[in-house]
Amino acid sequence: MKFDTVIIGSGLAGLASGIRLAEAGKSCAIVSSGQSSLYFSSGSMDFLARLPDGSEVTHPLHALSELTRQAPHHPYSRIGEKKVASLAYQAEKLIRDSGLVMTGSASQNHYRVTPVGRQRMTWLSPARVPVRELERPFKWESVVVIGIAGFLDFQPGIVASALQRQGVKASAQEIHLPFLDRLRDNPSEFRSVNIAHLLDLPQSLTLIAEEISRLAQGYEAVFLPACIGLETDQVVQALQIQVQKPVYLLPTLPPSLLGIREDQLLHTRFRHFGGVIMTGDTVNGVEMAENHITGLYTRNHGDIPLRASHVILATGSFFSNGLKAQFDRVYEPLLDLDLLAYSSREQWTRQNVFTPQPYLKFGVTTDEYLRPLKSGQVVKNLYAAGAVLGGYDPLFEGCGAGVSLLSALFVAEQIITGQRVTKQRIPEIAQ
Ligand SMILES: Cc1cc2nc3c(=O)[nH]c(=O)nc-3n(C[C@H](O)[C@H](O)[C@H](O)COP(=O)(O)OP(=O)(O)OC[C@H]3O[C@@H](n4cnc5c(N)ncnc54)[C@H](O)[C@@H]3O)c2cc1C
Repeated sequence: MKFDTVIIGSGLAGLASGIRLAEAGKSCAIVSSGQSSLYFSSGSMDFLARLPDGSEVTHPLHALSELTRQAPHHPYSRIGEKKVASLAYQAEKLIRDSGLVMTGSASQNHYRVTPVGRQRMTWLSPARVPVRELERPFKWESVVVIGIAGFLDFQPGIVASALQRQGVKASAQEIHLPFLDRLRDNPSEFRSVNIAHLLDLPQSLTLIAEEISRLAQGYEAVFLPACIGLETDQVVQALQIQVQKPVYLLPTLPPSLLGIREDQLLHTRFRHFGGVIMTGDTVNGVEMAENHITGLYTRNHGDIPLRASHVILATGSFFSNGLKAQFDRVYEPLLDLDLLAYSSREQWTRQNVFTPQPYLKFGVTTDEYLRPLKSGQVVKNLYAAGAVLGGYDPLFEGCGAGVSLLSALFVAEQIITGQRVTKQRIPEIAQ
């Protein structure tokens, strides 16, 4: 099987690079072991919320030169300030064109309301998630936070108390919907996605709307756990019309309905342009000659190799097995690529769990075109994108989705144009 590009991994990075390549007419396959971190995410996408020295970033594009000074190995520093700015707008377009309805822009962060009612700075948020613009008060003076009786992955009381501390009149309520009793009997099944399957049924709408309308009297807006509208937002739109108040969704503990919806829309977009996804398959062998990848072997295809002119490694970090750790070493399992990582185990973590953890910055090391190194040599037709890259801390710096999207578009552009994109934007011919 021969493709122009094979992408290993179908997280945000794999899908974004695949969409860009397929849209440009490249034959493209994604091999995907399983669910990506989107299934566990808040649904909001971070670009850059904090510099490594801890200072807050409100306008990400203005902070890039300071980021380069503080973190020269950060993927944004590798890509270069000007290029990051143009890729940010490309990423926003890709998100929009894929049908994700998000608020926000890379020119200015905003705050999203978290599952415990606090505020966290971010770049793009699903339009259904309550947000606050910088230096502006909340849009609502009063909010009712409504949980679902027996659903432990969302606690309206905690959210309401946190909102009250931020000056919002908030009350916590619960709805009891008898048609959920079947799930309620088994706590391991009483999870967001299973609940959504029942709430999304047309016959459930009036019942839910009646309960919510009763509890929402005297409040301006309704906050619900994201357990409704799995396939489409139309269900929430219909609810909002019946309730006659704005209805917002807060992320719950995983699985994340907001993240799953994003994953589905990105998959659809990739397939729309003719992309092939090998779901449930795993790349488990790589054939190389003279620093070139000549074939990829997968669990389902046995000894039939996938051949490609270019390969993108988008396998994620430890969470997705893109990196692995043994007692005394951290390694990249497919090609044993060179890593940005501490060799001594004592340096991997800090005892205080509330401080940034060094292992979160571990990842593959690359040249300035995001081509990984193996034993100090560039693998010529391989690029790395997303959380497998080293040099940044997605949690502390609040830059996870941004790095995944921008690195994906950066490598896709080089493959499409056949030219290396340099920081000064003077193209070199790709080898
Ligand atoms: C639990 C969690 C929650 C997060 N929440 C947020 C958030 O709310 N906002 C935010 O901005 N960032 C968040 N992040 C940061 C996140 O890393 C990025 O936002 C981004 O989604 C990562 O995408 P990725 O494609 O690089 O990697 P991943 O999403 O990890 O995807 C990697 C994919 O590669 C596949 N894979 C791995 N090895 C192989 C193989 N050998 N063969 C085939 N497939 C393979 C995996 O199965 C997986 O599907 C979160 C991270 C985690 C771990």
